[in-house]
Amino acid sequence: MIQRYVTPQMVLNDCRTFLQERGREGCEGTGLLAGYKLATHVRVSRFIAPEQRCIKSAFGVSVELTEQAHHTLIDLLLPDERFYARIHSHPRRAYHSEMDDGNGVLTHQGAISIVVPFFARDPILLPHCAIYRLKHGSGWLQLDVAEVTDLFEITYE
Ligand SMILES: [Zn+2]
Repeated sequence: MIQRYVTPQMVLNDCRTFLQERGREGCEGTGLLAGYKLATHVRVSRFIAPEQRCIKSAFGVSVELTEQAHHTLIDLLLPDERFYARIHSHPRRAYHSEMDDGNGVLTHQGAISIVVPFFARDPILLPHCAIYRLKHGSGWLQLDVAEVTDLFEITYE
């Protein structure tokens, strides 16, 4: 059931622009990668940043979609488009926090979660991110660099 995600670097650049802007406010940013399922792979089409709320507390920062955004996510998609990955930034190191594990935005088998370090100060290179895949019954399992490289094909148009 492993499928490849053909991902334009331009989509990752859009994502970085958004995450960097949020980072300038000291906030984590989050969004989703949408795409189309083709016969042999998924073609990632765009980055979508739904309405979100930045939370700053004594424990650090976090981000979540507003309730409204959570319940209207599907409305953001075009016909045949689906969400395949969620992506969010961290102020420092990239890893899945307990809160990230519990995040219910994407719950389909094989859903991808990408954590971008340092508020996306550098162009997004997926092997430098922490990337997890949801396996029902096991949870979010981190992919190693070789798996990330196999799973994502970056295109430059
Ligand atoms: Zn996180």
